[in-house]
Amino acid sequence: MEAKKKIIAVIIMCAAAVGLIILIFAINANKGEKNEKESKLTTATSAVETTNESEPETESSSQEESFVEESETEDASNWDSLAAPASITRGSNGYVVAIDAGHQAYGNFDQEPNGPNSDVYKAKVAGGTSGVATGKPEYQLTLEIALLLKQELINRGYSVVMIRESNDVDISNAERARMANDAGANAFIRIHANGLNDSSVRGALSICQSPANPYNGNVYSQSRYLSECVINSYCAATGFSNQGVSESDSMTGINWSNVPNTIIEMGFMTNADEDLEMSDPTCQQYMAYGIANGIDAYFGL
Ligand SMILES: [Zn+2]
Repeated sequence: MEAKKKIIAVIIMCAAAVGLIILIFAINANKGEKNEKESKLTTATSAVETTNESEPETESSSQEESFVEESETEDASNWDSLAAPASITRGSNGYVVAIDAGHQAYGNFDQEPNGPNSDVYKAKVAGGTSGVATGKPEYQLTLEIALLLKQELINRGYSVVMIRESNDVDISNAERARMANDAGANAFIRIHANGLNDSSVRGALSICQSPANPYNGNVYSQSRYLSECVINSYCAATGFSNQGVSESDSMTGINWSNVPNTIIEMGFMTNADEDLEMSDPTCQQYMAYGIANGIDAYFGL
C-alpha cells in the first residue's frame, strides 16, 4: 500500500509539474503574441509618421481632413457640413489666395439665401454662358484659367486654395465663399467670363461689393482695391479692353465672402474674337500671368 501511495504521489507531482510547465509556456506564448502585436502597431504608426514627414506639404490629405473638421465644428449649428476645397498648397510668402473657377458642369437651381440671414433666395449656382465660336462652356474656360493661375501663384510663393479642380462638382456660390472664409484666405479670386445677347460687346471687368453692403461692407476698401489691381494688370497683360470695376450687393458669392474678394469677368464669350482669344493657349498664359500680377500688386509684392 505504501509503495502504491508513493507511486500515486509521484504521478500527481509529475502531472502538476507538467501542468505548471504547460501554464508557463502558455503565458510566455501569449506575451510573445502581445509583443508582436505591439511591435506591429509601432511599425504601423512610424510608417504613418514617416509618410507624413516625407510628403510634400502640397495637397496633403491630412491638411484637407483637418480643414473639414474645422469647418464642421464652426458651422454645425445652422449649416450642413462644408466640403473641403479641391486642394490646398502651402507656399512661403505668407499670403493665402483662394481661387474659385466659376460655375460647374450642371447648374444647381435649388435656392439659398443670398447673404447670411438674408430672406432673399437665389439659385445655388447658375449654368453660366458659353463660347459662340468655340462652343466651350464657361465652367470649362474658368477651370482652365483657374488651374493656370494656381500654378502661377504657387511659383510666386503663395499658399493656394482651389475651391474646385473638376467640373463634376456641386458647390453653391455661398459654399464657395464660405470655403474661402474658412481657409483664412487673404484674397478670394472668382474667375468668370461674360455673356450677352449683343455679340459686339467686349472687354473685361471686375466686380466687388459696395461700401453699403450689409454683410461685408467692412472689407469693401480691400475688395475694391483688389478688384482694381486685378482688372488693371489683367488688361495690361492681355490687351483686353478695360471696363473697370463694378459694384454689386446682390451676388451670393460676394455677400457670403468676409475676406477681400473680386470677380474677374475675363471677357465676353458671346463675342467671337474674345471667345477665341480666351481659349488660345498663349493668351491663357497671359491671362493667368496678368491676374497674378494684380494679386502681387494688391499685396504690394
Ligand atoms: Zn459666370
